Amino acid sequence: MNIHEIAEEYREKLVSYRRYLHQNPELSFEEVHTAAWVREHLKELGIPMVEGVRGNSTVGVLKGQQPGPVLLFRADIDALPITEENDLEFRSKVPGIMHACGHDAHTTVLMCMADFLSKHPELVKGTVKFVFQQGEEQTPGGAKLVVEDGILDDVDYVFSWHCAPEIEVGTVVAAGGPRSASFDNFEIYIEGKGGHASTQSHAIDVTSTGALVVTALNQLIPWTVEPLDSTTLIITHMNTGQHELYNVIPDKMVIEGNVRCLNNETAERIIKRIQEVSEQICAAKNCKCRFVRLPGYPALINDEALTDRLSDALKRNGIHAITTPPYMIGEDFAYYLLKKPGTYFNVGSYNPEKSETACLLHNPNFCLDESVMVYAMETLLVTYLEMV
Ligand SMILES: [Zn+2]
Ligand SMILES: [Zn+2]
Repeated sequence: MNIHEIAEEYREKLVSYRRYLHQNPELSFEEVHTAAWVREHLKELGIPMVEGVRGNSTVGVLKGQQPGPVLLFRADIDALPITEENDLEFRSKVPGIMHACGHDAHTTVLMCMADFLSKHPELVKGTVKFVFQQGEEQTPGGAKLVVEDGILDDVDYVFSWHCAPEIEVGTVVAAGGPRSASFDNFEIYIEGKGGHASTQSHAIDVTSTGALVVTALNQLIPWTVEPLDSTTLIITHMNTGQHELYNVIPDKMVIEGNVRCLNNETAERIIKRIQEVSEQICAAKNCKCRFVRLPGYPALINDEALTDRLSDALKRNGIHAITTPPYMIGEDFAYYLLKKPGTYFNVGSYNPEKSETACLLHNPNFCLDESVMVYAMETLLVTYLEMV
């Protein structure tokens, strides 16, 4: 069986599905029509769906005649609150919403894989779960709900992919270990005592306390985290809620920030230290402190041995598989990989002959090279055949 020929035969269908989805984007957790499109197609293919999955996620289950593992493949289906600036005949028809992260391509490739396997029952061993998942772009993340719904309980391995505009089309990143960072937002509420500028000694100062907290947090990483254990900590907002009140001492301040780690244990440790340092500085300055953690996604960790095996399988099938350093962005497929071993690929979507495909994700000019879908389909099919 020639994987390239199979994927190439799907090229037309890949392009037409993707363009339809691209024209009709929906925001996270609002993907009603996209989910209906998914369900209609699965129904046409005769693939039964799991009942009771929450929201706009859909899980198709294809059972083989022969025994084998339970493999899960996931595509995210949501778009972003961005107005498309590309001048394409299939540009987004919805003002203010755009598939600027390539999830239209992810959804399309998974549907074409389901299409192919449903028409080749002789290849299906064990069970394949096709997860078309809502809300990747927005916390708490559709992934968390899929895991909570028990979809992974009987699954042996999980797989997904993302288009990568910084990688040339035809190249697939199959790298073990951490691939995307955890992220957590946090808020620090500091409370002091306000007053008139002329009676400063009777007030409790929140502004310099906040400044000390920010300075201490900016010094925290090198004294807490190993130098090769990538971590970022950024303060993005400080506010007393006052403006043009030059002689009024404020009584409160809020500080907001974001922390990212490639190691989930490091994330827990650094967040605990952020809280301790903030509380102790506030206590020393007679201020009250309330720390609020707003969790994002965990770090995404690919299974090392499995990913190496799949990388070899891709190369054997003539696919250019490489490794690259991980990204500090978040990805909710991390929840699947916390629960079950698997791999998340990055598939190049940049074509040097088409300058528009160089635009990065989450940008109004994002424009993937549609050939990425052919390579992604090959990647998923090689993965499937290697695992059964
Ligand atoms: Zn995104
Ligand atoms: Zn994405």
